[in-house]
Amino acid sequence: QRALCWVRRDLRLRDHTALAAATRQTREVIVVFVFDTNILRNLEDKDDRRLTFIHHSLQDMQRRLVKKGSSLLVCHGDPVLDIPRLAQDLKVQAVFTNRDYDPYARKRDRIVEQKLKISDVAFHSYMDQVVFEHPDIVTRQGEPYKVFTPYKNAWLAALRPEQLVEEKPNLKRLAQAKVFEKWSDPWSLKALGFEENDLWLKAGEEGARAAWKKFQKHMHRYHRDRDFPSRNHGTSGLSAHLRFGTISIRELVRTALTQKDEGARAWLTELIWRDFYQTILDRFSYVVRGAFRSEYDRIQWPGKPEHFEKWCRGETGYPLVDAAMRHFERTGWMHNRLRMVVASFLVKDLLIDWRWGEAWFARKLLDFDLASNNGGWQWCASTGCDAQPWFRIFNPVTQSKHFDPEGRFLRAHLPELAGFSNTHIHWPHEAPASEQEKAGCRLGRDYPTPIVDHAAQREKALKLFEGVSQTV
Ligand code: FAD
Repeated sequence: QRALCWVRRDLRLRDHTALAAATRQTREVIVVFVFDTNILRNLEDKDDRRLTFIHHSLQDMQRRLVKKGSSLLVCHGDPVLDIPRLAQDLKVQAVFTNRDYDPYARKRDRIVEQKLKISDVAFHSYMDQVVFEHPDIVTRQGEPYKVFTPYKNAWLAALRPEQLVEEKPNLKRLAQAKVFEKWSDPWSLKALGFEENDLWLKAGEEGARAAWKKFQKHMHRYHRDRDFPSRNHGTSGLSAHLRFGTISIRELVRTALTQKDEGARAWLTELIWRDFYQTILDRFSYVVRGAFRSEYDRIQWPGKPEHFEKWCRGETGYPLVDAAMRHFERTGWMHNRLRMVVASFLVKDLLIDWRWGEAWFARKLLDFDLASNNGGWQWCASTGCDAQPWFRIFNPVTQSKHFDPEGRFLRAHLPELAGFSNTHIHWPHEAPASEQEKAGCRLGRDYPTPIVDHAAQREKALKLFEGVSQTV
C-alpha cells in the first residue's frame, strides 16, 4: 500500500498529523509539495519573501528526507490536476493532508477529493494547523462565538491533554527516492520565475526550532515586554513559522501550558486569538470581501490615494508610523503594536478604506495569514467582531512615547531623526530650530512635514463612524 502525504502549510516532519497518520496506515509514503500556479500567478513581486521562505523550508525538509533515503516530490502546476495525476501514475491508494481553512484552499481540496474518488483513491484530511476548528468550540445554542473572551474560556475548558500529544510520523515508512524521482519538477526559485530575497529569520524546521528555543527563555516576561518593539525577544517572532507550519502549534501550546506563569498565560492567549480568527474566517467567509459588521460597508471613505502611497512608503511625517512602515518594507515583518498603530492611522487619520491596508499587508507580510490579517485589520478599523470601539482612536505620538520611550526603534529605522532628543523625537515638528540644526535634520527637506493633522482627522473619523452607527 502506497500513499501521498500532500504538504501545504505544514512544512516539517516532526509532530505532523497527516504524515503520522499516513505512515501509520500505509507501508510506503511519498511526501509531495505543489508550487500552486493559481497562487503564484497572483503574487505581484518577483522577489516575494514568502517564496524564499517556502523554498528554504522545503530544502530543509529535503535534507531530512534524504537522510532517510527518501526525497521530496515537488511539482509546479495546478494541484487540482497534479495530485490526481500523481495518485494515478504512482498507483497510490490514498492521499493524506492537513486541513487549510482559506476559502480558496477549501474549494481546491473539495475538487481534488472528488477527482480522487472517481479513481477510487481515498482523501484523508486532518486538523493540524489549529488546536480547535469549527464547530469544536460553539455556544450553548451551537453558534460560533463572535466575542473573544468567552471563546477563549470555552477553548481552555474544552482542551484535553490527548489533543496535544505529539503526532510522530514513522519515518521508516517513507518511500525510497528512486520510486518517484522522475515525477519531480525542477524547483529552484529561478525555475519558478522568482528571485531570492533576504530573510531576517532562518526558515525551515531548523530555523523554527532555534527561534522557539530562544523564546522559551523569555516567555515568562512576555506580558511585560510584548508591547515594546525595540525589546529583543519581547515576542516570539514565530508567526512565519506558524504560517508555514515549520513548527507544530501543539508543541507551543503544550509548553505554554506547562510554564503556567503570567507571561506564558498571556502568550497562550495570542495563540488562541489565532484559532479564533481561523474560525471566524471559516464560518463567516464573507469577511474577505467586507466588514464583519456589514453596516460599516456603508462608510464612504474620503481618504486620498496619494496619502495611501505616502503611508506605504513611510512618509507621513508621523515618526512611529514611518519607522514601522520602512522597517516593514525592508523585512516583511512588523511588531503587533506597530501593526495596530499603522492600521489605525490609515483608517482613522487618513480615512482610507481598511481593505487597502489589508491588501498591502497581504502583499508584503512574510507571515501573511488571511484569517489573522483580516481579523487584525477589522479589529483596528472597528468593523470586526469584538473590535476596538470606533470612538477609541490611537494617537500615534502618544503611542510612540509610551512604547518607544527612548526612541530606540525610531532611531534605528529613521536615521534622519536620530539626533533629536528623547523629548522631541516622537514629534520633531515642535522641536526648536536650534535642536533641528543640532540634529542635522531640516524638517520638510530631510524628513516630511505631517501630511494630516491628527486632532482634525480624529474629529472627521468620529463623524464618519457616528454617521453609520446611528443609522443601524
Ligand atoms: P507573538 O506575540 O509571539 O505571538 C505568538 C503567535 O500568536 C504569533 O506568531 C501568531 O501566530 C499568534 N498571534 C499573535 N497575535 C495575534 C493576533 N492578534 N491575532 C492572531 N494571531 C496572533 N498575524 C499573522 O500571523 N499573520 C498576519 O497576516 C497578521 N496580520 C495582522 C494585521 C494587523 C493589522 C494586526 C493588528 C495584527 C496582525 N497579525 C497577524 C497578528 C500579530 O500582529 C502577529 O501574529 C504578531 O505580530 C507576530 O509576531 P510574533 O510571532 O512575534 O507574535
